[in-house]
Amino acid sequence: MSDTTYLKSLLKAHADFPKKGIVFLDIFPLLRDPLAFETLITHFVHHLTSKTIPNSASKKIDVVVGLDARGFLLGPIIALRLGAAFVPVRKQGKLPGQCVTAKYEKEYGSDSFEMQADAIQPGQTVVVVDDLIATGGSAKAAGELVAKLGGNVIEYLFIIELMFLKAADKLDAPLYSIVQSD
Ligand code: 5GP
Repeated sequence: MSDTTYLKSLLKAHADFPKKGIVFLDIFPLLRDPLAFETLITHFVHHLTSKTIPNSASKKIDVVVGLDARGFLLGPIIALRLGAAFVPVRKQGKLPGQCVTAKYEKEYGSDSFEMQADAIQPGQTVVVVDDLIATGGSAKAAGELVAKLGGNVIEYLFIIELMFLKAADKLDAPLYSIVQSD
């Protein structure tokens, strides 16, 4: 069985969560299973180290950026395996010190993400990680934060991509997802 088939089989769809009409895909069953969690992390690390990213040649990844909140469960482990730094992107008002800010649209209204201003050095190579990409608004804002600090995002990584929302069109670097959902 392929990694994709195995990991997909463990995802659980919850109808009407967090509100009526929304089908929420839960990744936590996958983290509960040590073999699945190991498969997931190894899959990402293998992808990132096998030169399959367009235009990245053999660039070393300096920084793994994880998005609030489930990106914090994946990013640090991937960063440790790569020997890279981990940097969190958090909702506004949660990080101490000087921060850069980027706004993004949500279903109702907007929200802001922040990153500590000294977290990324100009010219560093960055990947952005989260559990799922829907509209791509949050990933795009994270990319803007990295750009403000002079970093170069070479890829956006997700367990799940909701294909019908066409998030890839919004991003300034390639999108990689393990599971593609309609
Ligand atoms: P976007 O900004 O791409 O529209 O939304 C992506 C964000 O919403 C991610 O941080 C993701 O964790 C969260 N999200 C939206 N829908 C789902 C879902 O069905 N399952 C999970 N696990 N996260 C979701």
